[in-house]
This record gives sequence, C-alpha cells and structure tokens, in this order.
Amino acid sequence: MAWPFVTVAAIFGAIIGSFLNVVIARLPADESIVRPGSRCPGCGRPIASHDNIPVLSYLLLRGRCRNCRTRISIRYPLVELLTAAAFAFSYHWFGPTLDLAAALVLLSALIAITFIDLDHRIIPNEISLPGIPVGFLFGSMRPSVGFADAGLGVLLGGGALFALAYGYEKIRGREGMGMGDVKLLAMIGGFMGWQGVLVTLVVGSFVGSAVGIAFMIRERGTLQYAVPFGPFLALGAAFYLFWGAELFEWYLQATHL
Ligand SMILES: [Zn+2]
Repeated sequence: MAWPFVTVAAIFGAIIGSFLNVVIARLPADESIVRPGSRCPGCGRPIASHDNIPVLSYLLLRGRCRNCRTRISIRYPLVELLTAAAFAFSYHWFGPTLDLAAALVLLSALIAITFIDLDHRIIPNEISLPGIPVGFLFGSMRPSVGFADAGLGVLLGGGALFALAYGYEKIRGREGMGMGDVKLLAMIGGFMGWQGVLVTLVVGSFVGSAVGIAFMIRERGTLQYAVPFGPFLALGAAFYLFWGAELFEWYLQATHL
C-alpha cells in the first residue's frame, strides 16, 4: 500500500479538521470563518501560528492556553484526529480517484454538520444547500453513481422525504424529521445516488433509535428530542460511502429482487 500517500492524506486531513473546528464554532454564530484568526476563549489573545498546529499543539501545551492556562476543549484535537483518520482511510480505500475527491468533500461536510447538530440541534443551510449541487456534480461524474442515480438521489432525499416529513407533521402535529435532515439527505443523494439515501436512512434510523432508547432508559425521559438525527444520518452516509454498494447488491440478491 502507498503509505507515504496515506500519511500525506492524514496530515492534510488534520489541517482540514482544524478548519472544520473554526466552521463548527463560528458558522452557527454567524461569524466570519476567515477573520479574525483563532483566539483563546479565556483571555481573547490571538493564538500564534506555532501554537496552532493540529493535534500537536494541544499535546505540547497540555490542553491549555499558553498565556492564561485556560483549558482548551479536547474536542478540538478529536475533530482534527477524526478528519485525519477519515482522509487517510479514504485514500487507502479509493486511491487517487474522483471517488476520493467526492469522499473528502462529503466527509468534511458530514463532520462539520455532526458537531453543529450536536451543539445547536440545527443543520446549517450554509453547508447543506450548496452541498446539494456540489454533491450532484460529484455524483454525476462518479462512475459508480452517474447522472441518473445522483438526480434521483436528490429528488428522493429532497422531494419524497420532504413530503413524508411534511405529512407526518400535519398528521401527528409535531416534527418527526426536521427540514434540516431532509436537506442533508438531498445532499447525500447527490453524492451517492438514491440507493445511498435509502441505506443512510435505514442505518441512521437503526443506530439512532438504539442510542435514543439507551439515553431514554438512562435519563428516564422521552425519546422525542433525546438525540439529534443529523449525526446518525452522517454515520449512515459514511457507512454507505465505503460499504453500501456491496451491502445493497447483497440485499438485492438475497431477496431476489
Ligand atoms: Zn488564554
């Protein structure tokens, strides 16, 4: 295997992860993700570039600001490590292909969406809406997806599920699936086709329900709003990205469809 290239992909991923941390912190607050540079949340002092190296600076400074010693959240290096791992694995899996480019863009969007949804219970339009045409463009060009399946993916994710969510809300009088989830699924459909939307929904609902029930038992609360759906859709989409096509083929053969 091409270890040097996988290492480069991991380093590139850590740098993108550092940028995603900025997006996660600033996008929901409507702040610029370009200026100003990173500042300590404790003393407000700008963080020098040599103290802003992904993962390494956190370890060297033992998770504290150099100036005021305020604790820096461990989530910053974790997001960087997660992105580094996602990029390295994508290179290992796809090699230097268009599928790799699509995977890196999709996974970056999914990581940002996951943590913003966990923090604020929203999926920002700033990511999901441009993600739909960008995803459709990638999907159309990917040999494993193609124009028709990518188009049907956007329509299924955006249209059919919009109708379902709208209908559920009208009948039950409360939101079952947010419109943010619908836009995310349209984006996923663009990148991976309508099959990707179905597998993402099944895997996301299954894992999401399991985790939701576990939370409900522990907190003795209600299932509603116990956990946001976005992170589980992101998990389902990442699963389909790597293993979904095989799973789908296997399912079709097993059921003789
Ligand atoms: Zn500080």
